Amino acid sequence: MNTPRPRCALTIAGSDSGGGAGIQADLKTFAAHGVHGLSAIAALTAQHTRGVTAIEVPSLPFLRAQIDACFDDFDIGAVKLGMLATADVIHAVADALEQHRPAVIVVDPVMVATSGAKLLQSDALIALRTRLLPLATVVTPNLPEAEILLERPLRTLDEMRRAGSDAVASHGQAWLLKGGHALDQAAMVTDVLFLRDATHEFQHPRLDLQAHGTGCTLASAVAANLCRGLRLPEACQAATDYVHAALRQGYRAGRSELVLLDHF
Ligand code: PLP
Repeated sequence: MNTPRPRCALTIAGSDSGGGAGIQADLKTFAAHGVHGLSAIAALTAQHTRGVTAIEVPSLPFLRAQIDACFDDFDIGAVKLGMLATADVIHAVADALEQHRPAVIVVDPVMVATSGAKLLQSDALIALRTRLLPLATVVTPNLPEAEILLERPLRTLDEMRRAGSDAVASHGQAWLLKGGHALDQAAMVTDVLFLRDATHEFQHPRLDLQAHGTGCTLASAVAANLCRGLRLPEACQAATDYVHAALRQGYRAGRSELVLLDHF
């Protein structure tokens, strides 16, 4: 039978047993965008809406086998990277991507969960900077992550604007800085995409809730939109709209107040 093939996107990230973030959020987001989702699990978390209770990293050969299995059979239009946990995992993922050379790589530099759990070991930062940033089509840090990567304080929209322009000038790839943690943005949240020759700002009304899985969902939505052929500014606009709508329809599933996104 000659049925049309959907486009494929691969997430290499951590699993969230609570189903709100990580691989589980990524696959729901891909499905909601009409993209076939593939996954290579780089870390397993035992997790609910109140925190992370355990983390386990698969063996590096098994991680590599998952990635190779995906590239050996599917046409992968975009790769999204999330929680990679350790320097060794980052090196293994970078080695695999340098061999397979996907056209699009969205790097979500996951470091700490909203619950406060540490999702990246401190000594992995150098590997993240030196091995993954050079491969990225776009990097999608929140402000605390961007402060660490760019080594400067980021509290206001103006500080974001200056840091993003400097980041593109010195690192080359595009940056989508997420403004949810900015202290001077009480009514609106502004996310800013920095390209070599332009910047684009995406604004949405701030919602009065604490959510789980927004970063994973945004990066996956950007990857899915790029996979479907959108250009980066349109992919980011649509992805930020998607996260805002998913948050508006969000729900509480665990015992904490954290809201999970509704992937429609
Ligand atoms: N768990 C996993 C596996 C993740 O990848 C992430 C974020 O990327 C989180 C938890 C944290 O999600 P949040 O900070 O939205 O609570």
